Amino acid sequence: MIAGAHLTIDLEALAANYRLIRDRAAPAAVGGVVKANGYGLGAVEVALTLIGEGCRHLFVALQGEAEALVPELPHGIPVYILNGLLPGGDAACAAVGAVPVLNSLDQIERWSAEASARHARLPAVLQVDSGMSRMGLPADEIEHLLVRPELLRSIDLHFIISHLACADEPGNAINGAQETRFRAIAAHFPGVPLALDNSGGIFQARSRFDLVRAGIALYGGAPHGNAPNPMQATVALEAHIAQLRTIPAETGVGYGLTFKTTRESRIATIPVGYADGWPRCLGNKGAAYISGIRVPIAGRVSMDSITLDVTDVPDEHLYPGAPVELLGPHQNIDQVAADADTISYEILTQLSRRYERAYLPAGTRARIRSITP
Ligand SMILES: *Cc1c(COP(=O)(O)O)cnc(C)c1O
Repeated sequence: MIAGAHLTIDLEALAANYRLIRDRAAPAAVGGVVKANGYGLGAVEVALTLIGEGCRHLFVALQGEAEALVPELPHGIPVYILNGLLPGGDAACAAVGAVPVLNSLDQIERWSAEASARHARLPAVLQVDSGMSRMGLPADEIEHLLVRPELLRSIDLHFIISHLACADEPGNAINGAQETRFRAIAAHFPGVPLALDNSGGIFQARSRFDLVRAGIALYGGAPHGNAPNPMQATVALEAHIAQLRTIPAETGVGYGLTFKTTRESRIATIPVGYADGWPRCLGNKGAAYISGIRVPIAGRVSMDSITLDVTDVPDEHLYPGAPVELLGPHQNIDQVAADADTISYEILTQLSRRYERAYLPAGTRARIRSITP
């Protein structure tokens, strides 16, 4: 075994998730959010799969991500940069043909200046802050823009967008308040298409404007915390047993000997650790599966390995090289995230570059089946 584990990425599951969101969001169009290397799955592979399904709008976070992605895509698919224009990056952004999300008056002024310098109109998205206090024009800058509309004269506004702070909590009244504020701001820009919803917003019972920005749901994460997850898993992660040992009762395992056996025990070591993005906080908390049997993590997660208590697994499943499921039919990204007290986004975006990766192509049957609720 050369790599510590094998990551299988099911592009047909991704495509099926896109189609589910498309049907759910219609008549709004679906934009694909492929920031952070497509949530860890590979921005180019994800983007090309989505485009194959009819997606015509892609979002990244950073200009560097756009610069890497745009040349790999068919011509004419806009790649929007959510974090906006970096100081000094204006000319490079225009040169690569990416579309910045303008998040401040300063960014609007700089993009206008870039357009003037090129004697051209330049495309952009305008983000307004409807209540999250993170990105986008705050109220005073919006007022300022409304009395100086000439600032936008050389800019082609594709969309006005905003972002929900509590989209994963459908019952939270903040969602409606943000929508109302967004509508009020957008009314000053008649005719410009609007986009508010991320995955959580898409699965709320509200209007969805002209475009949605789907991220985690495309990748199989649950759009809402406590509801059943309608999405298909897109990743499976399989390690193999590197070493097996039998140890007596009252024996410690791993750094700090934080796990102590209460009976004669079998311990299996797998070559995946926190350097692979498997959270260190899962020590003595998380689990893996061998032939469908839950095997708890025994002791701390090391940098490059994890020790599992496999005492309850029948012998025929235990041998060096035996497969160990970390993500798959019995355990999905939301369950690992819950054990680690984090969110599925973090589990996906930390998936190791050391894993050997294989892509299952779209257009075939999705193969990563979940048998968990
Ligand atoms: C990351 C991001 C999204 C996608 O969010 P998901 O919850 O993953 O669907 C949408 N819009 C903005 C502004 C984002 O930063």
